[in-house]
Amino acid sequence: KAPPQRRGSLCYIPPAIHERIEHYEKLFGVSTEQLKKITEHFVAELDKGLSKEGGSIPMNVAWVLDYPTGKETGKYLALDMGGTNLRVAEIILNGDRTFDVVQSKYHMPANTKTSSAENLWGYVADCVGKFIDQYHEGATDQLMMCFTFSYPCTQESIGHGVLQRWTKGFDIDGVEGHDVVPMLQSALDERKIPVKCAALINDTTGTLVASNYVDPRTKMGCIFGTGCNAAYYDVVKNIPKLEGLVPDDISPDSWCAINCEYGAFDNEHVSLPRTKFDDHLDKHSPRPNQQSFEKMIAGYTLGEILRLVLLDEFEGGNIFEGQDISKLQQPYVLDAAFLSKIETDPWENLMDTEALFSEELGIETNESERAMVHRLCELIGTRAARLSMCGVAAMAKKMNMESAHAGADGSVFNKYPYFKQRAARALADIFDWGDMPAEDHPIKVVAAEDGSGVGAGVIAALTKKRYESHKS
Ligand code: BGC
Ligand code: MG
Repeated sequence: KAPPQRRGSLCYIPPAIHERIEHYEKLFGVSTEQLKKITEHFVAELDKGLSKEGGSIPMNVAWVLDYPTGKETGKYLALDMGGTNLRVAEIILNGDRTFDVVQSKYHMPANTKTSSAENLWGYVADCVGKFIDQYHEGATDQLMMCFTFSYPCTQESIGHGVLQRWTKGFDIDGVEGHDVVPMLQSALDERKIPVKCAALINDTTGTLVASNYVDPRTKMGCIFGTGCNAAYYDVVKNIPKLEGLVPDDISPDSWCAINCEYGAFDNEHVSLPRTKFDDHLDKHSPRPNQQSFEKMIAGYTLGEILRLVLLDEFEGGNIFEGQDISKLQQPYVLDAAFLSKIETDPWENLMDTEALFSEELGIETNESERAMVHRLCELIGTRAARLSMCGVAAMAKKMNMESAHAGADGSVFNKYPYFKQRAARALADIFDWGDMPAEDHPIKVVAAEDGSGVGAGVIAALTKKRYESHKS
């Protein structure tokens, strides 16, 4: 479905506002030529991340060494700690590419994101405890759990993960540079919760494996959510930085999942079309000069980009004249859902947008201001979707994929209006597919299976199989 026509054009837009809109169309627009150039650089950066010297994209080896066969079976516990929610699940793999899941979701209180390590692991362990009380009351045998920890980790094996750095606005002392598995395990043990954390995975790795489990055409797993990242399978012998580090029982021809952590693409600020708003957002974030790509495209920054633009326009005397903008001055007061609602406002004169500004920000808007805000949301949302595809195209090019599915998950992919259509358009631009109907595109971004549930379960099964085959 094509995005609807801009409603703002129905009302009279004063030349001063019109001029501002045109300014932002230039500022946030990303041409086909730009997309292609960024993608080329992206491919080189993925390679660099696999080299011994390394680059700014970590390309973390995930130690998932097989594609699933679809025949995996068993019952596994999974814990997911993403950017927004916490989830505990039990997954039953039926061995025929189908599965069943029982799960509970827990809210991640905003203050746990910046509290202490003890507080964080205590809270996480308590949630696991609640789930066990509910579904395994009285269990004494240790249950095997796979932990989806959606932050960049260095792994020497699947059972461990040293946090490289926090992302997505998390800022907790004493975790970066440490193995998070024993921290979680001691919180579980202290509470006498009979669970053993046996594997640690990234959400993208989980998404890749879950989607491949049900759809073998899947070659990439992507998250477009609070944060942004992707995983794909490479071949062990093509990963120079693994030279001399691969245990003897792993064949050089073996597949190996790589968690790119490509949110860090262009941390050196040489490739992406950055604006002064991106620079401001970065400078005032807990981790400046990190996750540069992610900060332009992820759910946790889209609202902030809009906020910064609106403040700038207010200060320039172009909008909200005489209004109290104190609420809008609060960092991160706008989230991606705010933009979503504006983009899908069905009213000719943007009445939902009027209500949003009035109720949430205490700002009364006129029609031309709303038309401008609406266009800004389209521009920020479209830039995010188009830039996002440079990462997908880069993996596809790097691995010479002629056709593939990228399983995608995350709030932006699932909920942000027109993201999918804009993304498909961007891929078609990068690969010169012209007006080929989206369903015929050789490389398609499709809705993923649940990575931190099914994916975690399948990885637990693969890990168990590997472990058992080595014991015998
Ligand atoms: C993290 C990744 C994660 C992504 C999506 C990023 O901020 O660094 O590990 O995969 O968000 O959740
Ligand atoms: Mg998640």
